[in-house]
Amino acid sequence: MLTAEQRIAIVTGAARGIGAAIAQRLVEDGLGVALLDLDERGCMDLADRMTQAGGRAIGVGIDVTNEQAVTQAVERVTRELGAPTVLVNNAGVIRDNLLVRMSLDDWETVMAVHLRGAFLMTRAAQAQMVEERWGRIINISSTSALGNRGQANYAAAKAGIQGFTKTAAIELGRFGVTANAIAPGFIETEMTHATAARIGITFGELSDAVVKDIPAGRAGIPEDIAHAVSFFASEDASFVSGQVLYVAGGPKA
Ligand code: NAP
Repeated sequence: MLTAEQRIAIVTGAARGIGAAIAQRLVEDGLGVALLDLDERGCMDLADRMTQAGGRAIGVGIDVTNEQAVTQAVERVTRELGAPTVLVNNAGVIRDNLLVRMSLDDWETVMAVHLRGAFLMTRAAQAQMVEERWGRIINISSTSALGNRGQANYAAAKAGIQGFTKTAAIELGRFGVTANAIAPGFIETEMTHATAARIGITFGELSDAVVKDIPAGRAGIPEDIAHAVSFFASEDASFVSGQVLYVAGGPKA
């Protein structure tokens, strides 16, 4: 058995927002962390800061929809940090519009980043986990998986992530690998700021409207999601698999 300090995690979409908070939390938990993102400079800068603070981290520029780039990134992480046994599929995009106005390109972009990306990353990373007989796959879904106006593409992708997660749990469980999904509610990041901008209101106005329906009485912050990831990635979570945890400030997603 390896200690947390000996474990290596990959977090996609880690240059900012929820992914950056997850990477930070896993570094604090003692893991070596590879921050992967389209924004190479952003994830390298964050990794440098984590390293200067005493952690172990590298930043790798990557498009998670590119099969060859995914293979090369996992090889690079293995070479530079060690074999990854924790994978957090967090990279995401939104291309919101009402179904009747949604372009095929907007549909396919969202499917590609969330579903193709999670599939390629998981297929590439599971080999090390199976070899180690220990692994943690954590996929970021969304409360939008239950349906959300203007997000037919995103809702379908995030529901798809849940089915993908449960299937990975069934297929990989015998190798000591768990797979779980976290479905965040409304979290303050650039993604939700972009939503406010798209509908022509300030972030504060959007937040006030959404928070009215959140029993916890506040918007989520990236660290709320990072905390849940830390649990699923832990040694003691080995009997929790195939689950979807809604982290949304209340029971109604
Ligand atoms: P964010 O601030 O927009 O960050 C997403 C990150 O993913 C960005 O750094 C982005 O890079 C990166 N990314 C996008 N496409 C990529 C690709 N093809 N390959 C590699 N990296 C890519 O979003 P967030 O709010 O932190 O969201 C993180 C995850 O949580 C997403 O899966 C999102 O769907 C999910 N989520 C968010 C909320 C919320 O309220 N914020 C709620 C539920 C679920 P670039 O900026 O360079 O494109």
